[in-house]
Amino acid sequence: MEITAENKKDAHRTLCEEITGQDAGEEFTLKGWVMRYRDHGGLIFIDLRDYSGVMQIVFDENIKGESFKTAKKLKNEYVVSVTGTVRNRPGGTENFHLKTGKIEVLANAVQIINTCETLPFQIDEEAEVNEFTRLKYRYLDLRSKRLKDNLIFRSNFTFLIREFLNKRGFFDIETPFLTKSTPEGSRDFLVPSRLNHGHFFALPQSPQLFKQILMVSGFERYYQIVRCFRDEDLRADRQPEFTQLDIEMSFVDMEDIISIAEELFASIFEKLLNITLDRPFKILDYEEAMDKYGSDKPDTRFGLILTDLTDIFANSQLNIFRDNISKGGAIKAVCLRNGGSLLSRKDIDGLLTATKDFGAKGLAWTRVGQDNQVSTNGKIAVVPTLEGGIAKFIAPEEKNAIMERLGAKNGDIIFYQADTRKTANAVLGKLRLYLAKKFNLIPAGKFDFLWVVNFPLFEYSEEEKRLVSVHHPFTSPSEKDLNILELEPLSVKSDSYDLVFNGEEIGGGSIRIHNPSLQEKIFKILSISPENARLKFGFLLDALSFGAPPHGGIAFGIDRILMLLRNESSIRDVIAFPKTQKAYCPLSDAPSPVDDAQLKELGIRLYDATHKNIEY
Ligand code: ASP
Repeated sequence: MEITAENKKDAHRTLCEEITGQDAGEEFTLKGWVMRYRDHGGLIFIDLRDYSGVMQIVFDENIKGESFKTAKKLKNEYVVSVTGTVRNRPGGTENFHLKTGKIEVLANAVQIINTCETLPFQIDEEAEVNEFTRLKYRYLDLRSKRLKDNLIFRSNFTFLIREFLNKRGFFDIETPFLTKSTPEGSRDFLVPSRLNHGHFFALPQSPQLFKQILMVSGFERYYQIVRCFRDEDLRADRQPEFTQLDIEMSFVDMEDIISIAEELFASIFEKLLNITLDRPFKILDYEEAMDKYGSDKPDTRFGLILTDLTDIFANSQLNIFRDNISKGGAIKAVCLRNGGSLLSRKDIDGLLTATKDFGAKGLAWTRVGQDNQVSTNGKIAVVPTLEGGIAKFIAPEEKNAIMERLGAKNGDIIFYQADTRKTANAVLGKLRLYLAKKFNLIPAGKFDFLWVVNFPLFEYSEEEKRLVSVHHPFTSPSEKDLNILELEPLSVKSDSYDLVFNGEEIGGGSIRIHNPSLQEKIFKILSISPENARLKFGFLLDALSFGAPPHGGIAFGIDRILMLLRNESSIRDVIAFPKTQKAYCPLSDAPSPVDDAQLKELGIRLYDATHKNIEY
């Protein structure tokens, strides 16, 4: 951490990292925790830790007998106050990994402020401690340098966001946590009302409707660093409560939102990481992202671009390919450079299994090899050709066309997918990531930002047997598609944008509908009846009818961004008190049963009153 003039001043103590070699000979009082204790007979060393860092303290039996006796009683994580004189460490005993590694404090007096029980695990050790235990004793885990640094980074990160947005005329406005259940795609967390039995609040999945209403109120520029709640089955990078940077602006278009977001990230990267980002960020149309990368959050740090070969295989001898094309499907391929030397036959068989998990029916492949051809003048020429896999079913002119389109060279391997265009893209998109990870094709240290724009407005949900919104129902259709809104809803694009960072979606938003009758029309297309729309979103429809300005916004997933910037593999490591994968908090033992009296007050009777053991 950075010790500044303001946080330095403390009459009772000096922080470890405030002291430097220039202070040699001076006396200071330090307070903190015993991090490491080493008894060398007549000398005892401790590493004292406070929130700034660590200082080595030496107790010398021959210098201060009294404090040496107290030092004998110290144990790990005792809280102590040490007064001593700064000196340079003897040559050869410096610790260059520590900021204070060239100096130490020779103790003149020590006081034990508090003791500590035997620890359930060693702090700051690389030792394998299971995560449940770490979460149960989270306060101890948070003493480790890694987690402490993560949380300090987080604090600096959110400070810079606020500083930037405040300077740009944004207002930080809080919206309610106890609100109305208006599902936005996920399950709500419900809170029963004591005063109105049978009525429930919901914790917000996002402040979406309130931020739009603030625009109707005329605030024009809103932001909030806000907790959101979604009762989903958790995946590695999800938490039931998570933090979002939520932004909304009036009288803007997509370019305005994109530009303010880029400036925000550029300013934070500059100040926090000393990194100048390449701007403007790349922009990819949703269709192009799906077509070239098979993903709406493509990792563009490496190639392996999906290529369309449908036209080349139109008259193929391969029945499966030809039939697939005649049914309207596509043939797509990726070319792995030097795949021949990277992959054995066995590896290729292994890939077949992997791609089945990605939803593929099979995986066709060919290798690029060399062919000796006798030319008309009798000379032998070496030319590239396709061999292995399905090569024997591919005509020579098709082979040439494939190699040319893919720019394939000797030694490459080409993988093919014949399926609906959507499935072929999705499978190759996943295969592409799989190959890149397996063969280390992703360059390290890149900060690759990318906007994906113009998502479709709707998609068809097989599960719900109706059209659903790709973003949310308040997203504006692209103006050019308004005439086909009801005729061809699946072809309608939206004024929406996602921000992708190194292949991870870190934010998304849209220009909103500000016209109540268009909003009602969208509800209708989504098969939300007028009664239901009124019941759930009546307050938004009303607000839109009282002079709503055109508006749009975006939200960024703070936890995920911090996880990526800190190189962590889980968002739990950038959150002070996270929950487990089963949405349980081992520290506080939440959720937990409540008294019958509490339930009665809420007018609630449980279907099954036996308290089953909770699943961790
Ligand atoms: N409310 C949206 C979300 O939470 C973001 C937005 O459209 O601004 O994903």
